[in-house]
Amino acid sequence: MDKLREECGIFGIFGHSEAANLTYLGLYALQHRGQESVGIATSDGGPLQIHKAMGYVADNFDEATFTRLQGMSAIGHVRYSTAGESGMKNAQPILIDCAHGEIAVAHNGNLVNAQELRQELVSQGSIFQTTSDTEVLLHLYARSKAATPEAALVEAISAARGAFSLVFLTRDRLIAVRDPHGFRPLTLGRLGDAYIVCSETCALDLIGAEWVRDIQPGEVFIAGPDGEKSLHPFPPARLAHCVFEHVYFSRPDSYVFGRSVNEVRTELGRRLAREQPTPADVVVPIPDSGVCAATGFAEVSGVPLRMGLIRNHYVGRTFIEPQQSIRHFGVRVKLNPVKSILQGQRVILVDDSIVRGTTSRKIVKMVRAAGAREVHMRISCPPTISPCFYGVDTPQRSELIAATHSLEEIRRYIGADSLGYLSLEGLLASVGSDRQSYCSSCYTGEYPVSFPQNQAAYLQLALKLVE
Ligand code: SF4
Repeated sequence: MDKLREECGIFGIFGHSEAANLTYLGLYALQHRGQESVGIATSDGGPLQIHKAMGYVADNFDEATFTRLQGMSAIGHVRYSTAGESGMKNAQPILIDCAHGEIAVAHNGNLVNAQELRQELVSQGSIFQTTSDTEVLLHLYARSKAATPEAALVEAISAARGAFSLVFLTRDRLIAVRDPHGFRPLTLGRLGDAYIVCSETCALDLIGAEWVRDIQPGEVFIAGPDGEKSLHPFPPARLAHCVFEHVYFSRPDSYVFGRSVNEVRTELGRRLAREQPTPADVVVPIPDSGVCAATGFAEVSGVPLRMGLIRNHYVGRTFIEPQQSIRHFGVRVKLNPVKSILQGQRVILVDDSIVRGTTSRKIVKMVRAAGAREVHMRISCPPTISPCFYGVDTPQRSELIAATHSLEEIRRYIGADSLGYLSLEGLLASVGSDRQSYCSSCYTGEYPVSFPQNQAAYLQLALKLVE
């Protein structure tokens, strides 16, 4: 599907006899944030243990693995590569041993100055094992002359710019850090006496843990043998929570940045209906991403909501296309139209975004072929015009259809009778009263943290698509 790709999911637990099992379950709940690799590191007070593999959480852990992953604390990671090529060498957690002792790290986000730091470290003799930006932090940590591991970690992280929600595991501590802008979510929970940190609250729900609070932007949270403590060692910065977590990335049953994702997403649909009304017989979500917004749209417009497209949930990343001759499944292998709902109807299709436009075009065609009389596309966020440098895999600007095409050109390209996006004002009003604290750079092209010059090439424009 033509979507921006999720970044990563992280999970950490301190002080539970089933740390590895609970981390596995937590990662299972966070699987939507990354499907390329998975890993868990544990500590029983002795040498850290680690298991990493390519693919899904459910396919990569068995009894023998859990027997090896002993200990009362653990961290875990599911990954979709955002910086550094995919593959086992970039799977996380990354574990090192250095003068400060063993440490493992799991990272969600992207450091905008990773290349710069890496070049400096390489010129001074550092040898890197991965191409991931996270390893840079470990090199800085290992080289620090600070007196304690905590001070070394703060010194290392102080050099980083960009988006980072991090969990570290040492032999006797769990440390969670969120960048001062608060780009990516990170939340704190308790399960009995155990501390849990994770990307989204849906991971707490699965293991029956209680939500306590979000880790604050710029906070260093430490759980250790003496209990918990928090440091705030970084200078305060403009807040920049990723608004796309609410639009698409996070699960609707999660609370992110203090708001229910389901509520925000439904409100996006309500506002979309007020801003972009059109006479119609049926509102149809593009599943699963358009479901919450379509609910809100139907509620305000009074047009009934029907599930006119059914998603096949069992299409994995390993789906192998059959031979050339029967390859023209198109989008049908993932979505199938329900003719009895669509036939002869004026249909409003609701989705969360259009990235390249290629999938939207196929869906509109499919809905028409199923007998729809009119097809009106409604999108619950503004046009995506600029790439993300903060941990989200966006195509180059040249591939973003809204960066290079007018609304009317996009409408013609996807073949809809009408096309309407939610305004930026409508998007920010939906996330609530703290709208100034959000990043919306992919809709505005204005970036809260500058990115390296060599990435400016991403912003170049390209030739327009041919109809
Ligand atoms: S640019 Fe877009 S996707 Fe990236 S952090 Fe900002 S809002 Fe999120």
